Amino acid sequence: AKDFGIENEPILGYAKGSQERKSIENELARLSSSCTEVPIVIGDKEFKTKDVRHQVMPHNHSHKLAKFYYADRKLLQEAITKSVETQTKWDRTPIEERLRIWEKAADLMAGKYRQELNAATMLGQSKTVIQAEIDSAAELIDFIRMNAYFLKECTKYQPISENPKVTLNSMRYRGIDGFVAAVSPFNFTAIGGNLAYTPALMGNSVLWKPSDTAILSNWTIFKIMREAGVPAGVVNFVPADGPVFGDTITASPDLAGINFTGSVPTFNRLWRQVGENINNYKNFPRLIGECGGKNFHFIHPSADVESVVTGTLRSAFEFCGQKCSACSRMYVPESLWGKIKAGLIEKRNTLKIGDVTDFSSFTSAVIDDKAFARITSYIEHAKNSSNLEIIAGGTYSDKKGYFIDPTIIVSKDPLDKVMRQEIFGPVLSIYVYKDADIKKTMDLVNNSTAFALTGAVFAQDQKFLEEALETFKMAAGNFYLNDKSTGSVVGQQPFGGGRMSGTNDKAGGPHYILRWTTPQSIKETF
Ligand code: GLU
Repeated sequence: AKDFGIENEPILGYAKGSQERKSIENELARLSSSCTEVPIVIGDKEFKTKDVRHQVMPHNHSHKLAKFYYADRKLLQEAITKSVETQTKWDRTPIEERLRIWEKAADLMAGKYRQELNAATMLGQSKTVIQAEIDSAAELIDFIRMNAYFLKECTKYQPISENPKVTLNSMRYRGIDGFVAAVSPFNFTAIGGNLAYTPALMGNSVLWKPSDTAILSNWTIFKIMREAGVPAGVVNFVPADGPVFGDTITASPDLAGINFTGSVPTFNRLWRQVGENINNYKNFPRLIGECGGKNFHFIHPSADVESVVTGTLRSAFEFCGQKCSACSRMYVPESLWGKIKAGLIEKRNTLKIGDVTDFSSFTSAVIDDKAFARITSYIEHAKNSSNLEIIAGGTYSDKKGYFIDPTIIVSKDPLDKVMRQEIFGPVLSIYVYKDADIKKTMDLVNNSTAFALTGAVFAQDQKFLEEALETFKMAAGNFYLNDKSTGSVVGQQPFGGGRMSGTNDKAGGPHYILRWTTPQSIKETF
């Protein structure tokens, strides 16, 4: 990102006795000592409905962290009207002014509100301090800062005027008239910030439906952006029931686009509803979605065992495996299996799973009861299937929080559902292949799932890496050679995948912002 003339936000260490450690501890104590009330916000008005919801702490689910409200159809309609009304005015705000607001917001996030954002993410989404720092500090700040930078850079290009005395060509970047719906996930606070505020940066107005399980951190972003100067009505904060939200936005002629991260079935549903309403819209709505993965680590016989073991455990189990990019299937040659198996089991046993306020925890709980039920159903399936063997973990408890031990399953069947379906939790499935069958196995990696988000190949053999680049060309939107499949950094590895993983618009890259503008070319003749 330095080459672009801008640097990534540095990650703080939180060592005992450090200033940041003291301030995060204060914020954790403050936020957990009360239940924060989060209103619906439309324009400059706050609303509360009778449909009351709570966000609990996943690692301690009897503790209510925030109280919030679902917007009903009427309020959503009101939010649409407000957004459309605001958009025209907002789009007239000079780009320099918008850039100033974004720069100020990034500074507020990096300074004054860093620990509030981190604490809300830790307590509400059960991330450890370092996981929160990577997400709700560094990545969020990078999205805000770098998208503003990309906007500044792209406006530098102006069409060529052959004879400026006679004609002048220019181009301006307009928002889309109407409103954009941002539907964001729980697993990254930063993604909420990107989905709601990148369209806004480009002159659009937004209805933001945050995830129920990320309310507090997303609300904190909303407050910071308002304080930085985003006018009322540019982004409207409307927690709501998913289907009610989907039905209402897709029925509106003013729908300009959907910026979505979540599951394939939900994205498909929205897409279908847009199709059904296609004759009613003012614009063709832009549909941008990131929908998950079944990400692979493919190990070549020449691979360095140590980096395979460390990289795979980190990719599969950091963030409780609740990253779209997490490794969830691995293919290991028989010749290395003994060493890799021993390494995985030994190192996995050192991982500490616990409360987020215990700073030595490696990970904490998964997000909610639904996730807990889904993930543990795969573990039970493994216990009951003769093709599958659990070699580590396999235990879980939801008594206090939704805790699942990092679990490693070996599958004799490369097409078992644990090798093909997205589990989105701390479960790693492994298939051991015969060294002689390497080509066949690579084809299998390519074709056995519907997804193509991330993938990694570990090999010291350079020729093989070249071959892997060809064979796996379509198997991953983010592809790693000798590194784990997670950890893409804004501005460094623009993120997104193809196939059923999404529309691959590359969040954190320079082209993402262009999806949220409808530029106008102007030729003036004198
Ligand atoms: N960008 C993150 C990574 O590469 C993943 C984001 C996601 O889970 O959607 O690890």
